[in-house]
Amino acid sequence: MTARRPLIAGNWKMYKTVQEARDFAAEILELVDNVTDVDVAICAPFTALPVLKDELEESIVHIGAQNMYFETQGAFTGEISPLMLKDLACTFVILGHSERREYFKEDDVLIAKKVKTALDHGLTPILCVGENLTLRESGQAAAYVREQVEQDIHGLSPEEVKKIVVAYEPIWAIGTGRTASPQDAQDMCAAIRGTLTSLVGAVSSQVRILYGGSVKSGNIAELMSQPDIDGALVGGASLDVQEFAKMIHGVR
Ligand code: PEP
Repeated sequence: MTARRPLIAGNWKMYKTVQEARDFAAEILELVDNVTDVDVAICAPFTALPVLKDELEESIVHIGAQNMYFETQGAFTGEISPLMLKDLACTFVILGHSERREYFKEDDVLIAKKVKTALDHGLTPILCVGENLTLRESGQAAAYVREQVEQDIHGLSPEEVKKIVVAYEPIWAIGTGRTASPQDAQDMCAAIRGTLTSLVGAVSSQVRILYGGSVKSGNIAELMSQPDIDGALVGGASLDVQEFAKMIHGVR
């Protein structure tokens, strides 16, 4: 099996002022400056990106956004383009987060366009997929997530798929304090890898698959010890710099 480099990505959601982002960036650099074997990213609100660029560009902490439009420019009021994200030193962008799907009605067709555009501009999409509680309890989780993956990477070449990161985030575990068991998370991440294999072949072994849903320093190591879990997408617990640093050190 190809060795996949672990990735711990924070999703700040709609939290942190510019000053709070600046303070966090300065502190995280001090706390993780000796880390060489884990990729770290912070996916921040758009307003915090300039200060993260000032503080973190050229550092080991990568900068990411939480959304992006699929056009590079134009009359799309309120949207942000991949060129604008690149301008702010972003290398990652979260796409298809369940909160975007639920509250902003993003569907798989739109998400697939965004994934393709991100890749075309050299941004690494962190593509989020995951089932709700009803689907989980009715035993349809794997089939549902397989369908999401198929639609969201529709039309991509194996070389393109190799560059994406997939985050398996069961909706019932996001922000609830309820984590999928390591075995359940592993089973779903393995199913996602299996779907990728059926779509694009052997390069699936190089795709990083993250787990997300109430990850914290106390449970990250066990989740990460699973063979198909290559990292974590962390919401709430990424807002606390000490806790975030503890998670990064906890996977090494
Ligand atoms: C998320 O928003 O991507 C997430 C996983 O949130 P939390 O860690 O708070 O469950």
